[in-house]
Amino acid sequence: MAKKTTVKKSKSSGKAGKYVYFFGGGKADGNGAMKPLLGGKGAGLAEMSRIGLPVPPGFTITTDVCTYYYGHKRTYPSSLRAQMQAGLASIERLTGKKFGDVGNPLLVSVRSGARDSMPGMMDTILNLGLNDQTVEALSKKTGNARFAWDCYRRFVQMYGDVVLGVQKRPDEDHEPFEVVIERLKHERYHKDIEDTRLTPEDLQELVRRFKALVKDRSGRDFPASPWDQLMGAVGAVFGSWMNDRAIVYRRKYNIPSEWGTAVNVQAMVYGNTGDTSGSGVAFTRNPANGVKEFYGEFLINAQGEDVVAGVRTPEPVAELKRQMPAAYQKLEGIRQVLEKHFKDVQDFEFTIEEGVVYMLQTRNGKRTAMAALKISMDLYKEKLIDWKTAVMRNPADQLDQLLAPVFDVAEAAKAPTIATGLPAGPGAASGQIYLNADRAVAAANRKEQVLLVRVETSPEDLRGMIAAEGILTARGGVSSHAALVARQMGKVCVCGAGALEVDYQARTVKAGGKTYKEGEWLSIDGTAGKVFAGRVKTAPSEIVAGLIEGNAAAKQTEKFKSFQQLMKWCDTAARMSVRTNADTPEQTRNAIAFGAVGIGLCRTEHMFFEGNRIDAMREMILAETLESRKAALAKLLPYQRDDFAGIFRALKGYPATIRFLDPPLHEFLPHTPDQQADLSKKIGVPVEKIHLRVEQLHEFNPMLGLRGCRLGIDYPEISEMQARAVFEAAAIVQKEGIKVRPEVMIPLVGFKKEFDLQLEIVHRVAKEVQAERKVKLSYLVGTMIEIPRGALTADEIAQTAEFFSFGTNDLTQTGLGMSRDDSGSFLPHYAELEIVKKNPFATIDDSGVGQLVSIAVEKGRATRPGLKLGICGEHGGDPDSIRFFEKVGLDYVSASPFRIPVARLAAAQAALSAKRG
Ligand code: PEP
Ligand code: MG
Repeated sequence: MAKKTTVKKSKSSGKAGKYVYFFGGGKADGNGAMKPLLGGKGAGLAEMSRIGLPVPPGFTITTDVCTYYYGHKRTYPSSLRAQMQAGLASIERLTGKKFGDVGNPLLVSVRSGARDSMPGMMDTILNLGLNDQTVEALSKKTGNARFAWDCYRRFVQMYGDVVLGVQKRPDEDHEPFEVVIERLKHERYHKDIEDTRLTPEDLQELVRRFKALVKDRSGRDFPASPWDQLMGAVGAVFGSWMNDRAIVYRRKYNIPSEWGTAVNVQAMVYGNTGDTSGSGVAFTRNPANGVKEFYGEFLINAQGEDVVAGVRTPEPVAELKRQMPAAYQKLEGIRQVLEKHFKDVQDFEFTIEEGVVYMLQTRNGKRTAMAALKISMDLYKEKLIDWKTAVMRNPADQLDQLLAPVFDVAEAAKAPTIATGLPAGPGAASGQIYLNADRAVAAANRKEQVLLVRVETSPEDLRGMIAAEGILTARGGVSSHAALVARQMGKVCVCGAGALEVDYQARTVKAGGKTYKEGEWLSIDGTAGKVFAGRVKTAPSEIVAGLIEGNAAAKQTEKFKSFQQLMKWCDTAARMSVRTNADTPEQTRNAIAFGAVGIGLCRTEHMFFEGNRIDAMREMILAETLESRKAALAKLLPYQRDDFAGIFRALKGYPATIRFLDPPLHEFLPHTPDQQADLSKKIGVPVEKIHLRVEQLHEFNPMLGLRGCRLGIDYPEISEMQARAVFEAAAIVQKEGIKVRPEVMIPLVGFKKEFDLQLEIVHRVAKEVQAERKVKLSYLVGTMIEIPRGALTADEIAQTAEFFSFGTNDLTQTGLGMSRDDSGSFLPHYAELEIVKKNPFATIDDSGVGQLVSIAVEKGRATRPGLKLGICGEHGGDPDSIRFFEKVGLDYVSASPFRIPVARLAAAQAALSAKRG
């Protein structure tokens, strides 16, 4: 359940100010750059109007009014009414119709429009202005009673749902208005017929029944005054900014609640007057794979919402060429104008009324990562954009979609295809099927791999879609809600797989003569639009196959080549370099294949968990005398030395930051009686002794206890062993002719003296090894900055430390006083309340913890101007955090191997944005 969310109080007094921006007739008060004030839709309509595209006239009520509305107990600025009336008068002038007129009535649509589009999350009302009188006027004027009554019944239905709250109750399976329609169809026709076959009399009866339903459910009469209708609709749209699904959506996409939505009031045009009319949604290029083709779909004799709601499956836009050649030509022309003007792929809505094309919306088209890559390369080749813009056009946080697995070709060929649908979100997904969002979420929480299967999705399904690996629907087209949202989330999606019979009651899906129950496995290929029975094995994407496996065929694909081109541009643009967090030669090789230029963090303790090393480690921890501890360490030395040598070889001359032992010792110990008995046998120490030592090592706050450099200070012999392993390995590999650049890193330093004590050990051992092995090694010794005192005294620490690497995991933990391992229990609530905008362990808290980073950078470089600075916390792979690290001037970020491409792209974009200012 969403908690109450607050919106910043508007400073505006509400008396002055322009709240209404008009557009139409080749002019507009606003323009395309005014998205913050007019919302994306309002700005797009204004811009299209200015460049002479056919836009029905209308006006935009600004986002400032939304802010005011929530800051002033849901009331409006006093001048709004007059400005809206003036706006209506201008629409009337341009259309020759009058709002509420019983001769030639003006009908309007009322739509939301936030700065960033939030598809389907907020409310829309069409055909507003109809009542029992104006419907007759519309019928007479158009000579089309069916059309007039169809508009009216749609209006009462939408308004009743959205404004008057007549919606499905928790115990109901179907929308109440739909139930009324079904009942009438069955009464009069004894079967389900298409809506288009309902007669004017049927529709008239539906309006009557709808109004009775409204009265029954809401206790209110349906409003007859067009002005009251309008104010009710505007209030509902602003109100929908705070509805549950809009809040969930904003949280997912980090849209601040204070942005607010605008409201667009626009003269209606009709796609539902008959067979020479229709509505459609199209893209100037294919948003799923990026191919340059006029892509989209339309429905004859329908209004826009029919296309996106997925109730009837629309036809591809190419079909229009045959059915309405003139309208198709006009749209093709508009497609060219849009791309030339906006220099990006546009996603637009159009309506054809009696053969005349109108534009209702345009915006930059959301696209998959694969499409973004192809489109950016193609627009560059077409000279519409330069290479820097091409880099910016690839969303860094989507890039890992390109690395996502695809089905193993051989496996997919063997799997029975049980249905085909539209390829709406590329990639491969297998999962246990669930037919409702709540059960999908519950299954995902049980760690199941989930496939959400629906007849069609609605915005209510958002939570389920987030939880699912993939989404499969029986109805709906590629621009249906399911498809849009899936694409944006990077989810695999197949839409409109008509062969599926989804039975919500029985919780089954029938296809290909078989019945699949909830919990059984299906697999979907969102690139080909196929549905397979069972669980199909996945294979790596071409990029992973090409880079990691060296697969020659993969390297020849367009996707692979474009990816490499993008990465090359990134290297030209970026100021920061990208290293990796890796602990094994294999991880290191992968990271280098992805473009890392060194290791930013090698967590040496990870090496102690392999094979039987853990026994030697435990022996070392349990040792009671220095001698026995040294004996155990001597067993560990060769393992560490071999590991480091492997890593140095894999690095081929790139630097390796190797961190000394960091975690609390108890993490290595056996805690259950069985494990203790087992260890006792292996190392010959009585089990009671082991038990006692484990008890002794117990700490109340291990994360703040004996860990980090404190270990090396209490037990210098551990640091000695680790230093020896590093330098002996360096000497061995250097003798093989490979350049070696070790950088020894001391963790959790808060006092200069802590660092200096460890530094002394490292230098001493380095000297010994160089003498023993007769080599000259070059190395650095630096520290992690990961506790506030270290950051605040960075000027002192930099006197002896040659580099800093920010451990932002611990710096966040200690800076916020929030346990990184326990914050999961309360952080989601904090995010709901907007105490934190994003999880601070994923995205750096720039105004708090970020200050500690800035202070340390400043103080450290004041002491040692050339001080090398990096970051190795998880934030090193997060695009927002990378933008911050660019701003404070770090030299590199370090991320896990599969995040390297994301980090390279984010670093390039951060540098380009910093230059653009
Ligand atoms: C950190 O604290 O950010 C860090 C990289 O170290 P670890 O996660 O190993 O504590
Ligand atoms: Mg740490």
